[in-house]
Amino acid sequence: MTMTQTTTAPETSPAEALVQIRRVRKSFGAHEVLRDISLAVPAGSVTVLLGPSGSGKSTLLRCVNHLETIDGGRIIVDGELIGYRQAGNKTHEMTPRQIARQRQGIGMVFQRFNLFPHLTALENIMEAPVGVAGRSRAMAKGRALELLDRVGLGDFAGHYPAQLSGGQQQRIAIARALAMDPKLMLFDEPTSALDPELVGDVLDVMRELARDGMTMIVVTHEIGFARGVADQVVFMDGGVVVEAGPPHEVLDRPQRQRTRNFLESVK
Ligand code: ADP
Ligand code: MG
Repeated sequence: MTMTQTTTAPETSPAEALVQIRRVRKSFGAHEVLRDISLAVPAGSVTVLLGPSGSGKSTLLRCVNHLETIDGGRIIVDGELIGYRQAGNKTHEMTPRQIARQRQGIGMVFQRFNLFPHLTALENIMEAPVGVAGRSRAMAKGRALELLDRVGLGDFAGHYPAQLSGGQQQRIAIARALAMDPKLMLFDEPTSALDPELVGDVLDVMRELARDGMTMIVVTHEIGFARGVADQVVFMDGGVVVEAGPPHEVLDRPQRQRTRNFLESVK
């Protein structure tokens, strides 16, 4: 990969932001999916990513926790370059072990609540703390029970995913991500596979998480959530950031026609 020189370009990201995405580019073959994306997410803030299907939202989230490698630019989370180590003025790719460690600090919740079907809710939440982080089962269990309470499912510890509604499964998926004590949570359309009546409970859990100070990047078409919870709304189209700003600006006074068209379409 080529590291983009940022010495002459103005810094678009305040250095104190927890997440700094600087001039990121990503292609699949000849298709440039992310074209010079820059974004800063301050610690304790919520950024909502909006944009039509295919605009690169999922790819951007996947780059942040190194499920995809970037072709240019850099991503820094909590002062660490994602996927690369710097030694002096040289940059080395991380080993798989280093990447796995880095990824532990970033929780991700997908559209489909890929829980382990053969594990109970409690076991799903304990799996990574015990299996990956090497915590004791007793400690992991205590924390998992706390998290089940926090997502409103304290009575469902022994239930298997198939015995839970989609909304309940998604709340378990959030609890599972939180069990690794991430410094950043990424959500990729967490409610778009849910029946409408189940969406509210999941958004409530996310709202509470935001209130507790979690740094979050959320891809969602839930405009009400964006308006109420986001500190920053970013509208992407065609692999670029079309406009970004506080929700009352981007959602209520969009400057660009592309943003207006999109907002009209998700009403
Ligand atoms: P969004 O989440 O905004 O709908 P995506 O990031 O999923 O957009 O996709 C952006 C574009 O990148 C789409 O055209 C998609 O087909 C393409 N794309 C995503 N992942 C891959 C991949 N692994 N290989 C090839 N093309 C991909
Ligand atoms: Mg997507």
